[in-house]
Amino acid sequence: MVKLGVKAGDKVGTLAWNDHRHLEAYFAIPSIGAVLHTINIRLSEEHLTYIINNAEDKVLLVDEGMIPIIEKIKDNIPTVEHFIILTDEETLPETSLKPVQLYEAFIKGANETFQFLQDIPETNPAGMCYTSATTGNPKGVLYTHRSIVLHSMMLCFADTIAISERDVAMPVVPMFHVNAWGIPFATVSLGTKLVLPGPNFNGEVLAELIEKEKVTMTAGVPTIWIELAKVLETGKYDTSSLTRVVCGGSAAPEGLIRKYEKEFNIPFLHAYGMTETSPVVTVARLKSHQEELPYDEQLKYKGKQGLPTILIEAKVVGENGEEVKHDGEEMGELLLRGPWITDEYYREPEKTKEAVQDGWLRTGDIVTVDEEGFIKIVDRTNDLIKSGGEWISSVDLENALMAHEAVFEATVIAVPHERWQERPVAFIVLKDGKDVTEEELRQYLLEEKKFAKWWLPDKFIFLDEIPKTSVGKFLKRELREQYRDVLLKEQNV
Ligand code: ADP
Repeated sequence: MVKLGVKAGDKVGTLAWNDHRHLEAYFAIPSIGAVLHTINIRLSEEHLTYIINNAEDKVLLVDEGMIPIIEKIKDNIPTVEHFIILTDEETLPETSLKPVQLYEAFIKGANETFQFLQDIPETNPAGMCYTSATTGNPKGVLYTHRSIVLHSMMLCFADTIAISERDVAMPVVPMFHVNAWGIPFATVSLGTKLVLPGPNFNGEVLAELIEKEKVTMTAGVPTIWIELAKVLETGKYDTSSLTRVVCGGSAAPEGLIRKYEKEFNIPFLHAYGMTETSPVVTVARLKSHQEELPYDEQLKYKGKQGLPTILIEAKVVGENGEEVKHDGEEMGELLLRGPWITDEYYREPEKTKEAVQDGWLRTGDIVTVDEEGFIKIVDRTNDLIKSGGEWISSVDLENALMAHEAVFEATVIAVPHERWQERPVAFIVLKDGKDVTEEELRQYLLEEKKFAKWWLPDKFIFLDEIPKTSVGKFLKRELREQYRDVLLKEQNV
């Protein structure tokens, strides 16, 4: 990299899955004072172009499978001076990218030893990620050497994720999704064995890897665990090595947690964070006295996002800026402060002003806090359903629906309504070979799940698939666009 002219402060972009070459880049790039810019490879061409230009990436490390997409945008990313292809192949694939080299050939001629920079100020940037924008352009967040080190140490605490040298860790969360939640940094710092599943994985592949490599800890978004559950239900795989499945990025449905813990005997650990927060800020690990509770009571806490970790300050404020009561009921926006919380968006003074106020990051997440201090995300500000002036939590409805034995996936959105301004509409994907009617789901929510009548979705729409974001979260925006008029049309408005 140094020979290519990469200097301290330069950005080096990676477009890569979880594998050993990407891991090498994770350490090589910050160690020469440059900035590791992990790019979400599932973004649109427009967003890829935007963020490569916004970051001014000088070199791009590109998985072979990404070449066709980068070729399409190559003429619009003038700051990029070199392309390096990450592949097992020994010859360069046919490509119009220029100048281009193979990664293995690129490092082959280099010295076996290298004097890494020793005097990089700890507050210098080491990495950067962009938030996956739901509206407008993605926003860049810089991580410093200091923030990465402190966040890594936090992940190793027994009361958070408890990463240890004894683990075999398999981050399924992509290394382009907020640094695979910091797992590569924490594990390498301890010498923990890492299992990196590469680009082509599904439930079967993950189950095989867990069994074969005796994985003890794995991490990913709920959609991954929903998919793996289908495979584990067959009973074909031995997953007894697992001591925890870490789940974050979206709310983990209680039914899913119960399934893993009670059916598969795999402890399930729910955590929360965002790109702006490195990402981990809360972990739902039970306190010792909570472990004495009956399982159904425990589950209520495990389904929440949990306690702020060490060094993280959290505050929940209502619409007038006053702090809410810690009663598990009153809702407010979660504000955060701490050594791995960002205090600005890269080159975005206006957006920074909106998000960072008096040193606190506004998360845009609406939460409650209970007497134990456990935080529960009720919704993202944009996803809350405001019906006749009262709030309905889409997350609570989704949770309940996904616990139904016929439901594979469910999501709930707010849809404009003439009388109530907004009403919930549910989208349901059925499990293979299962069936349930709209009326049965309504009765189930009412009778078994004890929802108030006015919380029930006005409509249940059955789909083959729920659209997902680039990191596997339900893409509510697309559903909102497509189904904006469903209720108004029925009311002939
Ligand atoms: P993006 O904002 O780009 O979708 P992030 O991964 O930064 O990607 O998303 C952060 C948001 O994801 C949080 O603000 C929160 O709304 C949601 N989120 C993350 N983890 C959880 C969780 N465990 N439960 C519920 N929501 C979560």
